[in-house]
Amino acid sequence: MNAVVDLRSDTVTRPSPGMRRAMLEAELGDDVFGDDPTVNRLQERAAEIFGFEAALLFPSGTQSNLAALMSHCQRGDEVIIGAEQHSYRYEAGGLAVLGSINPRALPNRADGTLELAQVEAAINADDPHFARTRLLALENTIGGRPIGRDYLEQALALARRRGLATHLDGARIFNAAVHFGTSVKALCAGFDSVSSCLSKGLGAPAGTLLVGSREFIARARRARKILGGAMRQAGVLAAAGLYALEHNVERLAVDHRNATRLADGLRALGLAVESHTNMVFVAVPAERVAALAAQLEKANVLVLPAARMRLVTHLDVDAPGIERAISAFGEFLSGNAGAPGGIRTHDPWLRRPIL
Ligand SMILES: *Cc1c(COP(=O)(O)O)cnc(C)c1O
Repeated sequence: MNAVVDLRSDTVTRPSPGMRRAMLEAELGDDVFGDDPTVNRLQERAAEIFGFEAALLFPSGTQSNLAALMSHCQRGDEVIIGAEQHSYRYEAGGLAVLGSINPRALPNRADGTLELAQVEAAINADDPHFARTRLLALENTIGGRPIGRDYLEQALALARRRGLATHLDGARIFNAAVHFGTSVKALCAGFDSVSSCLSKGLGAPAGTLLVGSREFIARARRARKILGGAMRQAGVLAAAGLYALEHNVERLAVDHRNATRLADGLRALGLAVESHTNMVFVAVPAERVAALAAQLEKANVLVLPAARMRLVTHLDVDAPGIERAISAFGEFLSGNAGAPGGIRTHDPWLRRPIL
């Protein structure tokens, strides 16, 4: 049986033998007392890579983002955030539930950015009727789309001019940096805080790094404690993170190439496809999603069923795996596998544009 080609997310990666060895051999302490040497090494390394004063390791990106928002905002403050951004849409409303922060959600444009005139118009006047606008939160990459330095500089300049703090959800910031051929340090310069996942394309089993000033990170450490994220012998995770930063950053270019090849292959089958960094989005008619996902699974190709189907490449999917995925889509489209849900490429939905 062929190996599974798991395109559901880049979170599905398993620690490689080298990473497991690093975890096994990690020198450990109690990080709540601040004496886990491997955690300390990871945090120092992260601060250096991102060009910030300090860094803090979190169990998850959700918690890192929430701790960051809670460290920037007081109870009742407002954050300007994109309606498609993870912290607004996919973190169970934690910023409101636990942070008492009011989200002012603006639509993300097709390229993932916020219209800066709308951002400026959303800043509340100093008036007791209004929540105090405190923070601008952006995301990079967003839906796989990398946001370049030109836009970020304009957004940062606006925030600075209007006295807003800035947070970047950079869960996949290394994908953006590799895409632009730049460093995360250059891409993130000027933000007050950046959150970056080790557990996505970088291949660690868990862990997210938050970077900021020493004073900001001290506040975030308290928020992390409140949220239950202070861990003890966390060096086993930090060792995986250090390994990931050393071995798994430059190779993201391979994932991007694989995504481009997957997009080209699906497009050649007549499908409407969009692709950015390590993500491919393909339009599937709602009534055929389940049949497609089931047939792909029989071919050992795993996807999350959705009409705007997101396929994600990562370090556990290689080039032959991509070819197998394309073939499995092709078999479904031609109906060769005999499934009742077969789709022929002249079906009108195939030409429908997707976001
Ligand atoms: C995955 C993700 C997070 C949250 O990370 P978890 O570790 O899954 O909690 C936050 N923001 C973005 C953009 C993400 O993709």
